[in-house]
Amino acid sequence: MTTHTDLNQTLFERAKHVIPGGVNSPVRAFRAVGGTPRFISRAQGAYIWDANGQKYIDYIGSWGPMILGHGHPAVVEAVQKAVLEGFSYGAPTEREVELAEEILKIMPSMDMVRLVSSGTEAGMSAIRLARGATGRKTILKFEGCYHGHADALLVKAGSGLATFGNPTSAGVPPEVVQHTMVLEYNNVEQIEAAFAEHGQEIACIIIEPIAGNMNFVRASVPFMKRCRELCTANGALLILDEVMTGFRVALGGAQSVYAKAIPGFEPDITVMGKVIGGGMPLAAFGAKRAVMEHLAPLGGVYQAGTLSGNPIATACGLATLKEISKPGFYDELGRKTQSLISGLKSAAAAEGVAFSGDSQGGMMGFFLLDTLPSTYKEVMTTDGAKFNQLFHGLLDRGVYIAPALYEAGFVSAAHTDEDIAASVAAAHDIFKSL
Ligand SMILES: *Cc1c(COP(=O)(O)O)cnc(C)c1O
Repeated sequence: MTTHTDLNQTLFERAKHVIPGGVNSPVRAFRAVGGTPRFISRAQGAYIWDANGQKYIDYIGSWGPMILGHGHPAVVEAVQKAVLEGFSYGAPTEREVELAEEILKIMPSMDMVRLVSSGTEAGMSAIRLARGATGRKTILKFEGCYHGHADALLVKAGSGLATFGNPTSAGVPPEVVQHTMVLEYNNVEQIEAAFAEHGQEIACIIIEPIAGNMNFVRASVPFMKRCRELCTANGALLILDEVMTGFRVALGGAQSVYAKAIPGFEPDITVMGKVIGGGMPLAAFGAKRAVMEHLAPLGGVYQAGTLSGNPIATACGLATLKEISKPGFYDELGRKTQSLISGLKSAAAAEGVAFSGDSQGGMMGFFLLDTLPSTYKEVMTTDGAKFNQLFHGLLDRGVYIAPALYEAGFVSAAHTDEDIAASVAAAHDIFKSL
């Protein structure tokens, strides 16, 4: 180990005394890969610096939000201006309306949105809305998909047909997840069987269209198409959790990507977060008017938040959306992300390392496997020890990727071709000894 971990280590020891595991979100603790988490002291553009002043090329980007890179001047200016006008009022503001209008312009599947403060809150509220709007209890989710840590969604379960899940977390009573059905991702037969048996009880399917919480696994087009058809035929709602993919894989989110392959494709409810806040706590969920009118104060589904639509967060989100809406933004971002994945593929091939990778817009994933996986079970066949060697090798060479093999990666508009070339060269160096 080089000396640069020292101040990170000191901070980690201090942190562990006062914060469980030393972190405020578990994956930050480096448990999967071992070693000391880097305590970040600042960030600019595509780079972050740790407590020792060590610089890294950042492919986490706060787990997705920082699509413009860190400290984009237009976003900083908007936030600074907003701060001077007050932090929070607990009353409506014009900026919330503007942000809602902007989101609806970009994603035409929705007529109305409600702003909240985290993806967890948005996912949890979307489920309540789906149950309230349909008057049904059962929710259907897929193994390997994460929708925030609301009780009813904290179920991973086995891959058995139509398995009603067991809670994945202590503190979630089985009764709370007894209406959560967990099926295998990309398994058409299982969703058909579930609807054949329980069709009239299912309130919704909730799905990550490109699953970024098992690295990067696309829902196949036939699978997504069948999810849509079965929901429509059975009066269930299709919820696309686009917290990660929204404004990230394309301006219009993954739904715009699937609409190209499935004519007329639209979700009933969309869950958003990450990029729409540009790094501030902001998330949202939206749907057609008839569904959204079930929400309080119009309807009987309760949902509220002291800091919802926060004036600084909405300023940050609006400024971010303005930048990413510029013509050609996703072409350039997608090109860079693709060049990183293809560079890594070539480097791995040159060294005879099993490797597969995929990307869409500014979201990417790679596996130390010969072919891309399509289910959680397949993702989990990745060699963890080899991934850890790659992770630490990259970190030592100033390249910061997610500290777990089941996480997606993110490229920002601030990453240069030189950053990408340097990252590929660092990986190539490690592939030699993998
Ligand atoms: C990150 C994420 C969430 C949870 O969002 P938080 O803001 O962390 O609560 C939900 N769904 C998906 C798909 C995510 O990637």
